[in-house]
Amino acid sequence: MLVKQLQRVQIPARTSVRSLATHLNPHPFTPNGPDNSHKSYKDGDVRHDWNRNEIQSIYQQPLLELVYRAASVHRQHHEPGRVQLCTLMNIKTGGCSEDCSYCSQSSRYSTQTEAGKLLALDPVIQEAKRAKEAGSTRFCMGAAWRDVGGRKRGFDRILAMVREIKGMGMEVCTTLGMLSSEQAIALKDAGLTAYNHNLDTSREYYPEVITTRSYEDRLSTIANVRDAGISVCSGGILGLGEQQEDRVGLIWELSRLPEHPESFPVNALVPIKGTPLENNVPVAIEEVVRTIATARIVMPKSIVRIAAGRKMFTDAEQAMCFMSGANAIFSGYMLTTDGVEKDQDAELFEKWGLQPMKPYENVQETYENKIQAAPSPLQQQPQSQA
Ligand code: SF4
Repeated sequence: MLVKQLQRVQIPARTSVRSLATHLNPHPFTPNGPDNSHKSYKDGDVRHDWNRNEIQSIYQQPLLELVYRAASVHRQHHEPGRVQLCTLMNIKTGGCSEDCSYCSQSSRYSTQTEAGKLLALDPVIQEAKRAKEAGSTRFCMGAAWRDVGGRKRGFDRILAMVREIKGMGMEVCTTLGMLSSEQAIALKDAGLTAYNHNLDTSREYYPEVITTRSYEDRLSTIANVRDAGISVCSGGILGLGEQQEDRVGLIWELSRLPEHPESFPVNALVPIKGTPLENNVPVAIEEVVRTIATARIVMPKSIVRIAAGRKMFTDAEQAMCFMSGANAIFSGYMLTTDGVEKDQDAELFEKWGLQPMKPYENVQETYENKIQAAPSPLQQQPQSQA
């Protein structure tokens, strides 16, 4: 059976035993995953054997039922109302050789984004300090290029950025394109907390969006990051022209990894003039909420992050996202589109009673455990009243 599996997948030359598991479909003869009808799972269980049809059924529930279910799962693994604040900074803009059809930084499209060089260390550190003072606990740096290969001096500078920001007590994340296992280890040694590498959409729809790197390339980078001991941040973009089945397919692919990504960013496409998707209609908020809620149920321990496109949502629509299990946002500018200003986020947090997460907040105890551990009102009554 293993031989047949190996024949069906293309495995990159340097692939560790652990990452091999990432490349193999664990259920190769049932294209949608195993038949789980005889198993008794309950909501909140961490599973890696999801059948795609199970996820489709979750996604298609009546919306408010779905939100309620996701909110219940959220409370098993996270403190409701705690939201991680991240700041994103573009450390190398534009001029990218890739053809991601949503991106203004691709050199193949005529957009207003100009190509720039990798920033020096100092301005990046200054920006990280400002972000920390404004309440961000995670600083994410993005570079527009295909991969880090052949950029030794630039990569050394990025490692220095990671070390400095880590030394400030912040979580550090980077998104630098494809990564080898050696590069992932170097980033880990420098103190990197997380690496972002999105799958973007389903395996079937992916070729409609990007042709210059394969789905397997992306899974390979994710495996290298995981093997190096770095947290994986991987999610997708809604509004690419995909169908509901593709949003389900994206979640399904990530749910089958040996470990779920610690962070699942949900981006809503902001169409950018000059890109092939410039005339796309923005995705409906219901689809965003369904995606967040489904991801919360399927990958219950992951942080679900509202990323690009949040500026398009009203405060009430964002509240719906938080109710559905979203528990991280980017505050300030996104890589290529406008984000939400920090002052507006402070008002939003006040309005909906949200609290920012602390850096490295690791919710060891679930919300429900804490409630169960706390003395009940009856236990708290003085004995003399009995
Ligand atoms: S999304 Fe990243 S890899 Fe794709 S074109 Fe934009 S910068 Fe390049």
